[in-house]
Amino acid sequence: TELLAKPIEKIRTQLEDLQKADASLIRISELLSTKTMIADGPGAPLPPGPLSVRFNRLTFSYEEDGEPTLCDIELALKPGQTLGLLGRTGSGKSTLARLLLRFYDPQTGSIELSGVDIRNCKLHELRSGVAMVTQNIEIMEGTVRDNLSLYDDTIDDEEIVAVLKKLGLTEWYASLPEGLDTVLSSGGGSLSAGEAQLLAFARVFLSDPGLVILDEASSRLDPLTENRIEAAISSLLEERTCIMIAHRLSTVQRADQIMILENGRIVEYGARAALAGNPESRFSRMLTVGLEEVLA
Ligand code: ADP
Repeated sequence: TELLAKPIEKIRTQLEDLQKADASLIRISELLSTKTMIADGPGAPLPPGPLSVRFNRLTFSYEEDGEPTLCDIELALKPGQTLGLLGRTGSGKSTLARLLLRFYDPQTGSIELSGVDIRNCKLHELRSGVAMVTQNIEIMEGTVRDNLSLYDDTIDDEEIVAVLKKLGLTEWYASLPEGLDTVLSSGGGSLSAGEAQLLAFARVFLSDPGLVILDEASSRLDPLTENRIEAAISSLLEERTCIMIAHRLSTVQRADQIMILENGRIVEYGARAALAGNPESRFSRMLTVGLEEVLA
């Protein structure tokens, strides 16, 4: 058995490595289902805490000589500010989010986070500073602990339980037969849509990024879950910079700035309060007739 100890240990660490690789794959595919070849930057750590965001005259097209999907985008967010990003389906909101995570690079212009051009960051540096919560959370086959910490072993059980409590999931947690060791099935079939959403928030709180991109769910959930998600969004916004692809007025009201995209161009951008107070603005019209009406 002594002879076998070393090889077994080696296999064990290899298995662990594989699991970690699996977790990062999941994290990436959670962000987006496309895969592209983007070169890692030389390395430029993002500072801890809320990040500032700056887009410098950015133009991007999915095809080399195609029509730009985003054209001349300029924006500036101070650390801790929230941008409400609005626009019809196909206007370029998700593309803007994907560029922030460097799933693509713009043809012209640049994106800076706290003064760092994101092309200089290693992808893991970038993706530990920026998190995206989409409407489709991916649950992998594995324990609740692994699903929430994504194998980051600096996150301990107490932290996980505290975050579940903060999200109103204490009862759900108490109902788990084996606590954090309870195994979830791939796809999260045993979870309600609301629970899955809240677990996606739990991941964000645990990884504690300085910038969150939130693609708000447009479908309605039960009122209790809605309240919990509202509360989760509020506390998420307190501690970090946020870009919200918003579908609801209640969410938009929390934004410091509003940007409206149309066919990849900015048609309105400014402080929310100023736009809301200007009867000529598209935003104030949206406030009057409802977001759904204008953006449907
Ligand atoms: P939104 O999030 O506002 O609905 P998107 O950013 O998803 O808009 O899409 C903007 C435009 O880019 C649309 O015309 C869409 O068809 C196009 N588009 C989105 N993803 C791709 C892709 N991977 N390849 C080519 N075109 C795309």
